[in-house]
Amino acid sequence: MRDFAAELEHRKQAGLYRTRRQISGPQQPALVSDGRALLSFCSNDYLGMASRPELSRAAAESMASNGVGGAASHLICGHHDAHHQLEQRLAEFTGRSAALFFSTGYMANMGVISALAGRGDTIFSDRLNHASIIDGCILSRARVRRYPHGDVKALEELLSSTDGHKLVVTDGVFSMDGDVAPLAELARLCRVYDALLVVDDAHGLGVLGPEGRGSVAELGLSETDVPVLIGTLGKAVGTSGAFVAGPRLLIDYLVQKARTYIYTTAMPPAIASATSTSLDLIRREQHRRDHLDGLIAAFRKGASELGYELMPSRTPIQPIMVGDNWTALALSQALEQRGLLVTAIRPPTVPEGEARLRVTLSAAHTQADLRQLLNGLAECRQILDAREKQAV
Ligand SMILES: *Cc1c(COP(=O)(O)O)cnc(C)c1O
Repeated sequence: MRDFAAELEHRKQAGLYRTRRQISGPQQPALVSDGRALLSFCSNDYLGMASRPELSRAAAESMASNGVGGAASHLICGHHDAHHQLEQRLAEFTGRSAALFFSTGYMANMGVISALAGRGDTIFSDRLNHASIIDGCILSRARVRRYPHGDVKALEELLSSTDGHKLVVTDGVFSMDGDVAPLAELARLCRVYDALLVVDDAHGLGVLGPEGRGSVAELGLSETDVPVLIGTLGKAVGTSGAFVAGPRLLIDYLVQKARTYIYTTAMPPAIASATSTSLDLIRREQHRRDHLDGLIAAFRKGASELGYELMPSRTPIQPIMVGDNWTALALSQALEQRGLLVTAIRPPTVPEGEARLRVTLSAAHTQADLRQLLNGLAECRQILDAREKQAV
């Protein structure tokens, strides 16, 4: 048998051992963790929707009339009015002909990619794509060519030298860097080289573009430009689940072929109801995005003045680059001692030698919250200085 204990010990030695933190109460910036109050800067609840009373009320009302369980898969008898209405709203929100509601983003990527590509086909995947995309590529059994992050030239060379059915897949906003993919250029390449473009806008939806319609809408890219648009609902939308939106034909095809859609129990209808309510609020409440943009600008200014290395991101994902695993952990722990929760992200989630603190901002943060974070970062700056001196 494999020596599992030794593998875990090895992880500990390398500063790669992961532990889970237990949270009590609602998901919001003021968290209670192990009975202790912490100000959190690591959630993906970018608009502060996860604990909105309007969403709890929509879910509670739906549960009172529809019960809790999904009871069966969508193709047996699980497809409920609430799911159907949400799909129509999602199609309208994204400006697509149709949408299909999945249980999670992980399942959406696995199901969509493996349904749209197979043996003998080629998938071109950005090197920094999310794990669920990587796994979807593996599951498809297609040949996978990973191209350097955001490198349109390198991708064009690969595309021009490949025959057969081609799929290009990318995050819209990259989950650990916060930058936006060159979507207009990718759409152009896919048109020229007859490839099908799949964009996973897990972190752009709700945050970017008019009414929060996402990174694809921000650039005005149509269903022809980006035929397969995936979005997740557990981040800025504040509920749970995911969807794929696109031409009717493609959605019909996925209902027949996407195994992670077919062979799983439908989500509780109440989640779909709460999600519809959230979408309505997100479209209406531009002030949340404006406030968030203000926080992002203030954070970038403050953290760079303190000498921290930021990444070229204009989204709520604002990583502080550190490099080595132990320094990232030390910085995260020092902040936690000051009541600030900012998680260290280490390999294999990010490339080797690129450990970082992943700061995320939310419309639920106040300017005072941000000042508290910047004060904490000012006090902890010496940790980085000390490590850098050691390295020299
Ligand atoms: C979080 C994330 C997913 C997974 O979505 P879940 O609904 O949490 O399973 C997929 N893609 C990207 C880019 C993500 O960041």
